Amino acid sequence: MSSLDGSKKGITRRTFIKSAAIGVAGVAAIGSLTGCNSSSTNESSSTAAAKEEPLEEQTWSFETPPDPIPDDKIKEVLDADVVVVGAGVAGITAALSAAEEGAKVIVIEKMRKVSPLGFWVGVVNSRLQKSKGLTLDPEQLTWEMKHAALHYADERLIRMWAYKSGQVMDWILDVLEAEGIPVTVEEHWEKKQDTPRPGLYYTMYPTAHVAGEGDIWQHGVDVILTPLQKKAEEKGAKFLFSTPAVQLVKDEGGNITGVIAKQKDENYIRLNSKAVILATGGYEGNQQMRYKYLPGLGKFLDNTEIMGRQTNTGDGHLMALWVGADMDPLPHATMFFDSNLAFSLHIGAWVLSRQPWLNVNASGERYQNEDAPYGYTCRADLYQPGKFKWSVFDSKWPEEAPNMGGTVCERIYPNSPIPPFGDVNTCKEGLEKALEKGVAVTADTIQGLAEKMKVPVDTFVKTVERYNELAKSGEDVDFGKDKYKLTTIEKAPFYAIKVSPNLLVTLSGVRVNTNLEVLNKEGKPIPGLYATGNVSGGFFGFEYPVHITGVSLGRSFTQGYFAAKNAAARALKKT
Ligand SMILES: Cc1cc2nc3c(=O)[nH]c(=O)nc-3n(C[C@H](O)[C@H](O)[C@H](O)COP(=O)(O)OP(=O)(O)OC[C@H]3O[C@@H](n4cnc5c(N)ncnc54)[C@H](O)[C@@H]3O)c2cc1C
Repeated sequence: MSSLDGSKKGITRRTFIKSAAIGVAGVAAIGSLTGCNSSSTNESSSTAAAKEEPLEEQTWSFETPPDPIPDDKIKEVLDADVVVVGAGVAGITAALSAAEEGAKVIVIEKMRKVSPLGFWVGVVNSRLQKSKGLTLDPEQLTWEMKHAALHYADERLIRMWAYKSGQVMDWILDVLEAEGIPVTVEEHWEKKQDTPRPGLYYTMYPTAHVAGEGDIWQHGVDVILTPLQKKAEEKGAKFLFSTPAVQLVKDEGGNITGVIAKQKDENYIRLNSKAVILATGGYEGNQQMRYKYLPGLGKFLDNTEIMGRQTNTGDGHLMALWVGADMDPLPHATMFFDSNLAFSLHIGAWVLSRQPWLNVNASGERYQNEDAPYGYTCRADLYQPGKFKWSVFDSKWPEEAPNMGGTVCERIYPNSPIPPFGDVNTCKEGLEKALEKGVAVTADTIQGLAEKMKVPVDTFVKTVERYNELAKSGEDVDFGKDKYKLTTIEKAPFYAIKVSPNLLVTLSGVRVNTNLEVLNKEGKPIPGLYATGNVSGGFFGFEYPVHITGVSLGRSFTQGYFAAKNAAARALKKT
């Protein structure tokens, strides 16, 4: 390890171990941290040097490869053509896709069972979309994605999703239809299209596919993954749970020839294979990686609820780094959600708080058009003092909220097509809970509300007066929000819910080419190593574009499918 940087200095060995203990791959890095601390003279000189090094060149202890696992610790050896690391969205897809090619597949998963997160799967031109007349222009979607990434991405990977995700969804539909599982495409964008300036701020695309019936919150994307896994097993794929991968195996020729994973009893298993597909998700649960790759957000995120899995600790990123993979440049892309304080309280509390009501910052000022995809409003909120806002509305909200439109899980409908998102009664319960816990405040006067919000009273009163003036005139000349989302704040009691962003998942990773092969620092493939979904890079830049609904799951399914085809071809010597 060459250096420490300023922020890292504040991390004690104890806190590092606590965070690394979540991920077995991280444990291997502890030794290098201890080694680094062995000489205080060395540490202080390297710290001094680090301050003068460019951020991207500062090396953290987790980047140092751990010692190889000794052979006597390996109690079991299995052979496969393709090993998939991670039984999440990309991993299960890859397992079936490779098994269909005739490859002998073993999937190793860290958790006890499959536990995916997510609901809306965004693809372009599935047969379902076409049958509903929702044909999209892949070229347009490519450019939307590129713009959303501020062009800080690899267009070739975006094109793969824009042009081939429909084909992958058709393949998924074959499996779901055989199981009698219904799938719908969401097309609730009428209100947005009625705006006086359609497409000026953002256009919602009908990319999102939702599978299953009833309460989406209860089943989510596992209604897709369960039948894919079942079919993969029917085709011979073997799933090993509670078996976290800790190291990749590389031969003298630089080929990846397998993975070593940990078993329940502290012993190890080696899986020999001709190709390894990393599908380990993001590093949202790894404090050290958040510190390095999300500069400026580290301490803030320490004090938020990470909504993604704490067990997604970037193990695949690290294992790939240790065999020479190149990583996406800084800063990495994130998927933020605007429900930090209300989330664990009650679903109705955060759904209600996320409507495009008047937003004010800690100074009691309005600062943005509140009607934008939530990843983007989160970024605007992170720019504000204290990185939070108040979402302000009045007692008319039960009539007003269902007219707000909103993106995906933001929407409120009197009779929600996707319960429980959008249910007014759920929001009423949530508001009660938020008031009880102090996340929301209420008062009969605007002044009284300001006092409870602890914002400057005069400024807040002026902000509300101005907002009411705009709402009554029907034109938001200050921030350009659509008329039907400008609602007055005049009927007591008044409410404010405190909102700040929290992290769903990280979206950047190791560099890959269009075969989903992992690239080294010279841009050359590391033979036998593939990466898919959130462990891979080059697809998103900076923040998640929620208006291209479900593109994250859509990418994971698409990349998982094609990575497996390529890995199987290598393993079966078809290339
Ligand atoms: C609450 C929530 C809601 C979301 N909703 C949506 C949505 O509606 N639409 C959308 O597009 N996106 C959504 N997302 C994002 C989406 O869930 C992820 O981007 C997506 O799951 C990433 O897929 P993946 O296959 O890359 O990783 P994951 O699905 O996270 O799978 C990674 C798997 O690898 C396993 N793993 C990790 N380390 C190891 C190891 N060392 N060894 C073995 N296994 C390991 C993990 O346990 C996990 O099972 C949501 C995210 C959250 C948190």
